[in-house]
Amino acid sequence: MPASGSERPAFEALGIGADLLRSVSDIGYESPSAIQAEAIPPLLEGRDLLGQAQTGTGKTAAFALPLLTRLDLSLRKPQVLVLAPTRELAIQVSEAFQKYASHLKGFHVVPIYGGQDYHVQFRALKRGVHVVVGTPGRVMDHMRKGSLGLEYLQCLVLDEADEMLRMGFIDDVEWVLEHIPNAHQTALFSATLPGRICKIAEKYLHDPVQVSIRVKTSTVDTVRQRYWMVSGLHKLDALTRILEVEDTDGIIIFVRTRRMSTELAERLEARGFAAEALNGDMQQKLREVTINRLKSGKLDVLIATDVAARGLDVPRISHVINYDVPHDTESYIHRIGRTARAGRTGDAILFISPRERRLLKAIEKATRQTIERMDLPSYALVNDRRMGRFKQKITDALGKGENLELFTEIIESYRIEHNVPSLEIAAALASLVQGDTPLLLKGSDRKSKKDKEKKNDRFSGEERPVRQEKDIHSQRVRPGMDLYRIAVGRTHGLKPSRIVAVISAIGGVTDKDIGTIDLHEHFSLIELPLGMPEDIFDELKGTRVCGQKLKISLMKSGSAPRRSSERKRKFKKDSGEKKRKRKDKQEGKGKKKGKEKGKKKGKEKREKKGKEKQGDG
Ligand code: ADP
Ligand code: MG
Repeated sequence: MPASGSERPAFEALGIGADLLRSVSDIGYESPSAIQAEAIPPLLEGRDLLGQAQTGTGKTAAFALPLLTRLDLSLRKPQVLVLAPTRELAIQVSEAFQKYASHLKGFHVVPIYGGQDYHVQFRALKRGVHVVVGTPGRVMDHMRKGSLGLEYLQCLVLDEADEMLRMGFIDDVEWVLEHIPNAHQTALFSATLPGRICKIAEKYLHDPVQVSIRVKTSTVDTVRQRYWMVSGLHKLDALTRILEVEDTDGIIIFVRTRRMSTELAERLEARGFAAEALNGDMQQKLREVTINRLKSGKLDVLIATDVAARGLDVPRISHVINYDVPHDTESYIHRIGRTARAGRTGDAILFISPRERRLLKAIEKATRQTIERMDLPSYALVNDRRMGRFKQKITDALGKGENLELFTEIIESYRIEHNVPSLEIAAALASLVQGDTPLLLKGSDRKSKKDKEKKNDRFSGEERPVRQEKDIHSQRVRPGMDLYRIAVGRTHGLKPSRIVAVISAIGGVTDKDIGTIDLHEHFSLIELPLGMPEDIFDELKGTRVCGQKLKISLMKSGSAPRRSSERKRKFKKDSGEKKRKRKDKQEGKGKKKGKEKGKKKGKEKREKKGKEKQGDG
């Protein structure tokens, strides 16, 4: 909101001509921008004006609409002259005039700029124009040559004055100002007001109305901002849930380090997203390639660091996700400015932990906008989307029609041979297509919502609650025992008896040697005698229980047992059962096994692995 606070008037209330109101409504502007609301009335009155406003605030219409209102169309002489810093801007402003004047019969505007053939410009000027938009040097040349007469000039506009100063055109601008023959209105627009510009304003503006528009970065207006208070779920799981249900196009995810950008990119890719990293470690060339892939839609998700994404301008970015909090409010504003580009709207989502709440408040203050709290998409919604996508795959395959005849034949013969209904065959094939990853998140919203306040222990699907993982750190391990994590839990149907059976078979330990077994939804914790031999560890890691690989990892070790001989006796290195199992395995995939073994060395390595695991997500 501008400092003036109150609601802006409608275009109709500003006093611009009826034909211009029609154009404005054709174009689709709903209400005047701040600079328009403040600059149009004094410009209509013929007052001089000093307007300070950033680009993108709607300055062109702020001067074009009132000046067009006051134009004498029957007089085909330059009545308005606009000086702009570059050829592109001159053309742009000229086109804007044309657009705003679309209902003004016989209106003519011409851009004149360096680099274009003089004769084209001579002819255009000779034909008679109402408005001239030009770069200072070329305007000066035409004035000198006598091809641009300014006897009827009513108004001079200096657009982006500080830019003209920066580009070294300010002397030309002054020359033009000094050589305009008669009294006229002057409007000067500038994003900043350096000394030289102030001097010009003092010298050439008469009793100007001063308008200063403080932008709260214009982009912020069109960005819907939300935050998710990090709790319960791992950020990665939360992120994928969001990505699954939000209506997205291009997405930039901001992280704090280069390493994190590549790590997260890999993980998202593993989860089926077209994701790549963009960071300062990458060669300029490669960065460009990546950005182009994002632009063309070959890539949807970019995981970027602040530095690498500076100034990035990709119109299809629909979402900016602050996976790691920004360093400060300024970098937040910069980050979210990557979306809502080229007149579109955008979404910004901030992951923030309760400890970082203060930053949230600071951002709200700086942007003068509230950031809404968001809940994670519900299980039902996620599952609904997943089913929708799955069905779409079927539709696509049917549409493509590849090999459908052949498969129809095979299935028909299967149906006859096995006497199984087609529907069941289709279901079997669907599950084949889906593979090991479950199609749906398991769990229900009712449960998770009810329990949310109390305790986050009813999470399902691929998700693992942070809180439970954290509890592991404080969990005591009995002396003489190691605490392991296995990637199988209640949702997979694990029972303590089952895991005891498997571990005692492979590790040769007895029931008694196995300590506490703590079943969680998606993983379990188990105490085993201190110092499991490496080969047993390796074998356990790849063993499947309830259809899931155990992926056993060491979490923590208890203190040494009183008698050191004790530990050796627990795992029986070559129990008959184990030998048999290993033989089976080697027949299956002996090679890979050997490789894995060569890499891992002893408990130290495992310990490290275990720690990395904890740090996950
Ligand atoms: P500036 O000169 O301040 O950089 P422009 O005049 O080029 O800004 O306008 C920036 C964009 O905003 C243009 O696309 C323009 O069409 C649009 N615009 C201008 N005024 C309005 C308005 N009142 N409502 C909506 N869009 C507007
Ligand atoms: Mg402009």
